[in-house]
Amino acid sequence: LQNRQQNRRQTIENSINISTFEPTETRMETLDNKKSGPHEGYVLVTGGAGYIGSHTVLELLICGYNVVVVDNLSNACEESLIRVQKLARRPLKFHHANILDEKTLIPIFEKYNIWAVLHFAALKAVGESTKIPLDYYWNNVTGSLNLFRIMERFGVYNIVFSSSATVYGHPDTIPVNEKCSLGPVTNPYGKTKLFIEEAIRDMCAANNKWNAILLRYFNPTGAHPSGIIGENPRGIPNNLMPYVSQVVQGRLPFVNIFGGDYDTVDGTGVRDYIHVCDLATGHVAALQKLKTKPGCVAYNLGTGVGYSVLEIIQAMSRACGKEIPYKITKRRPGDIGVVTADASLANVELGWYPKFNLDQMCQDLWRWIESNPLGYPEPSNEAKQILQKLST
Ligand code: NAD
Repeated sequence: LQNRQQNRRQTIENSINISTFEPTETRMETLDNKKSGPHEGYVLVTGGAGYIGSHTVLELLICGYNVVVVDNLSNACEESLIRVQKLARRPLKFHHANILDEKTLIPIFEKYNIWAVLHFAALKAVGESTKIPLDYYWNNVTGSLNLFRIMERFGVYNIVFSSSATVYGHPDTIPVNEKCSLGPVTNPYGKTKLFIEEAIRDMCAANNKWNAILLRYFNPTGAHPSGIIGENPRGIPNNLMPYVSQVVQGRLPFVNIFGGDYDTVDGTGVRDYIHVCDLATGHVAALQKLKTKPGCVAYNLGTGVGYSVLEIIQAMSRACGKEIPYKITKRRPGDIGVVTADASLANVELGWYPKFNLDQMCQDLWRWIESNPLGYPEPSNEAKQILQKLST
């Protein structure tokens, strides 16, 4: 298994273009060359002020799409969108609204000529979801159903949904591909993703006007290479990279590694980490695909390369030039040794390839943390007013 993983990693690393972030102009030219430019209407992005949403909104603006963001700011602040506009040098529309609130959503659908929705809005903490499951089902599932009903009412039948590798439960095969069976999923957060996927599949089966792309993210990390936007830290993180970052900052004492006896390169768990900017380009590719009326299709978004917890700690240590303390403890019940993506379907059908390697993910993450140790500041009233004015 270790040899297979190492060989696969080598092959994929060789094929990843490590020169990474192309300047805006190059990407716009590429789009022009493909003669498949952006749509004239609006792309509605729910949860667009959040971590993955804000990076995707930036990519959409850079590629020339018109964007309207709906976010209730339960896990974000306007500052991310203010910075996105500065980076893109283009405006977006923002509505501080809850996807559960039909009365606020309807006027937004009336106001803009929306042709597709990128649906990021969700609560996402696995641990928290086991404590307040009802809030997770209400916000994620009811919120999504509410959104889909309004989309249908306004004849907006194109959706890209933020799903997760968690829908595979304990995958049958590694690397996991989209044909692997789904579930059982053991935590309420993961179940909301699976239930929403099921609802979308049923909607598409019942009405062939619907086109849906379910993007199953593996482990998103990193930040925009500028260090200007990134993941806003709140509370004790659930995911490894944000946790490691807080240890680097001295906000947490050490990294707890659960399990050092897996059948992996060094005994610690292996996962597939993907740069958030690669996810962003994946969404633009998915939007392009929607134009071909594909029906309902799921794609894995991962690099196919697995890294162990110790490798992550070492890479982060290289990026920040500091030793990162850790302790290896017992395995957590239900954890799996290795989960990596087979993303060849997205490579072939979406023409999407990740460009960033692990060192770049860590360097970009560190750049963001160093320049924004406490995350985004609360924007000034003046900045908020400008953002509001742009949306009226
Ligand atoms: P995030 O919390 O940074 O972004 C989610 C955004 O949705 C936030 O800005 C939040 O304010 C907003 N939101 C939540 N509920 C809302 C509601 N009812 N109405 C309007 N806005 C609402 O999270 P993220 O990491 O950017 O994740 C985006 C999506 O990707 C989520 O659906 C998440 O489940 C999914 N996902 C994330 C990961 C990950 O590791 N980050 C992995 C797999 C899937």
